[in-house]
Amino acid sequence: MISVEIKEITKYYGQQKALNNINLSINKGEVVGLLGPNGAGKSTLMKIITSFVPPSGGTVKIDGFDVQENSLEIRKRIGYLPEHNPLYHDMYVKEYLNFVLKTYPNKKNTSDIVKDIIRLTGLEPEKKKKIGALSKGYRQRVGLAQALIHDPEILILDEPTSGLDPNQLIEIRKIITDLGKEKTIILSTHIMQEVEALCNRVIIIDKGNIVADDTPDNLSRQERKSTSYKVEFKEKVSSRLLQSITGITRVNNLDKNEWLLISNSDKDLRESIFKFAVKNNLNVLSLSLEEQKMEDVFQRLTR
Ligand code: ADP
Ligand code: MG
Repeated sequence: MISVEIKEITKYYGQQKALNNINLSINKGEVVGLLGPNGAGKSTLMKIITSFVPPSGGTVKIDGFDVQENSLEIRKRIGYLPEHNPLYHDMYVKEYLNFVLKTYPNKKNTSDIVKDIIRLTGLEPEKKKKIGALSKGYRQRVGLAQALIHDPEILILDEPTSGLDPNQLIEIRKIITDLGKEKTIILSTHIMQEVEALCNRVIIIDKGNIVADDTPDNLSRQERKSTSYKVEFKEKVSSRLLQSITGITRVNNLDKNEWLLISNSDKDLRESIFKFAVKNNLNVLSLSLEEQKMEDVFQRLTR
């Protein structure tokens, strides 16, 4: 069942085109990662989906409601964590969440709701503090709490882990993973590992265009058509000699006698590399087939 339907969305800021004819359907329950370098258009797309910014052309529908025409229906269904999460620094955590909740109509048992959301986002120990006194990680939790407080079906999280230290990052990712079991999530990031860790669908955006849309697994498999080998010799070898190995198209010196050999086919060349070493009186200390990383795919697609 389609949850978010984006049709022919284009966005200009003055003369500059930030989004170029984006078409996208997101189904209920998907956890989608919008991946792309800075300036790709991720935040702009999210602002359009959440009806914060009007598109220059095209439509976005959430559960059949047009975001331009039914902003109240959209607000009920969407929780949004903006990139530069604007929080009221002088408010206390609990006070702020109560305040946000009151902006939604017909909410009963407000104190229970706030209590639940504080527990869910791990804000318990900090709930009595002013937002301005919180660490970046806890502020981000308040941002998540704010986005979740009306129990929306869809969460739009713009760079939810940016600027967090490694521990905070792990904790916020865990919360997102749990939320993903129940909700449709669209999150943006410029970090590969993030989509690998969190998402079941990756959409790569570059210069306002969608350049890839697939599962993280498929994207890495696609890239696996090229293979690379990490090999360490006992002796010094020249890159020219290594390039003479049949099938090897590029070589990179990683460390003293350690090399990355890259081929353009998915054929396993380990045997050829061994034979090459024997023929040239070289001792192979280690040889391994390298897994392709999303990072490589990303670089290739956005080149
Ligand atoms: P991302 O979130 O992927 O980094 P953005 O959506 O923020 O990308 O930006 C896409 C492009 O639109 C960038 O070139 C950016 O400079 C431009 N842009 C974003 N917001 C504005 C704005 N309010 N006014 C003018 N240009 C903008
Ligand atoms: Mg952005």
